[in-house]
Amino acid sequence: MSDVGAAVEFDHVPCPFCGLLCDDLKISRAGAALKVVKNGCGKAVAGFERALPAVSPQIDGRDVPLNDAIGEAARLIRKSSAPLYGGLATDVGGMRAVMSLADRSRGVVDHALSEAASSNLKILQSTGWIMSTLTETRNRADVVVIVGSDIHKLHPRFFERIVCAETTLFEDSFKPRSVVFIGDGLDQSGATGPRVGNVVTLPCAMDRVDEVVAALLSRMRGHPVSGDNVAGVALAAIDQLASTLSEAQYPVLVWAPAGLETNNPDLTVHAVCDIVRLLNKTTRAAGLTLGGDEGGQTATSVCGWQSGYPARVSYASGAPDYDPENNSVPRKLAANESDLLVWIASYTPDLGPPETSLPTVLLGPPGMSTAGKPAVFIPVGTPGIDHSGQLIRCDSVVSLPLRNLGRSDNPSVASVLAAIEAAL
Ligand code: SF4
Repeated sequence: MSDVGAAVEFDHVPCPFCGLLCDDLKISRAGAALKVVKNGCGKAVAGFERALPAVSPQIDGRDVPLNDAIGEAARLIRKSSAPLYGGLATDVGGMRAVMSLADRSRGVVDHALSEAASSNLKILQSTGWIMSTLTETRNRADVVVIVGSDIHKLHPRFFERIVCAETTLFEDSFKPRSVVFIGDGLDQSGATGPRVGNVVTLPCAMDRVDEVVAALLSRMRGHPVSGDNVAGVALAAIDQLASTLSEAQYPVLVWAPAGLETNNPDLTVHAVCDIVRLLNKTTRAAGLTLGGDEGGQTATSVCGWQSGYPARVSYASGAPDYDPENNSVPRKLAANESDLLVWIASYTPDLGPPETSLPTVLLGPPGMSTAGKPAVFIPVGTPGIDHSGQLIRCDSVVSLPLRNLGRSDNPSVASVLAAIEAAL
């Protein structure tokens, strides 16, 4: 049990509330109350400083001891012929426990944000891609193109830490970098400071960004494009961007899957990756996909290590079967193809389970609101606040250790799922 009474400050704290996993926060704790003292953002403040209500494990809304809730969850899973494991907003240890339990109970695993990430996976699996990392982009990129997603809103410190960073590895040769925004109404307020040179906008409706990107690819291939504009963006501006990219030493094209509102996100990601491939014939270029919130990149990576597939895996046959369409939890719920939902979320109380008539076992942070009453509710801790753990960053190259800040003694997802599996 941690000592929640002592006043204490923590330096270099990793933040688990978006896929960037900024690891430079300063957090103070007085009693069970946390405060972001330095280097946070609005999302971090909301996550770290949220007051935790005191709640107990419950069965059908009745407070019960933890062991009783674990026993009832095990009973429901034992009885189920097709359990769904959804949400999956947890850390490496929690996700390993999910995979073990799903394997044992012949269930299906699917992360809450799988749909948004599906365009990326389709391109990665079908054509491959050339990608950068956060560190390489900060150190080397001379042109950063933000493609149709509001990065500043989704990942509030991306510009501060990556694009406008005060120091990089190559100070001697560093020149201000150009930043290009494709899409109308994207928050550009982060693109400021001595590290930023030209800021260019190609304004078009967000649902037509895919047309502009496709036209850019066509022009770079030397193909004609009819008319003098595409989705309201002058062809001359598209040609200018083609020249800027071709003349750059290391352009990086950035998008966040959850923010892509184009008519066809699959085609948008495909065209971006083709532009990068084309540029690499004459210069060095890369893509950078953000995202990975709610432990999304962690779920994808652990599912890959354990099963050989990135997500949406079923163990119904006794072996892992990957089917990104059929093994979607929302689709399975809509088609009545299950008899139990196990929903796991440990970061924000907003990621509640979808509405369903199925009995639901909910592992969630205290204060999580739900549309219906779960059959079993077990309050769990948040990795990086209530217990230690590991998370994988959005660029999937770094696994960061998370700290126990001693806010509460709520158990980890890993320990609860291990206890449920032991009770099967
Ligand atoms: S940008 Fe993301 S990881 Fe960084 S402090 Fe904000 S919420 Fe946390």
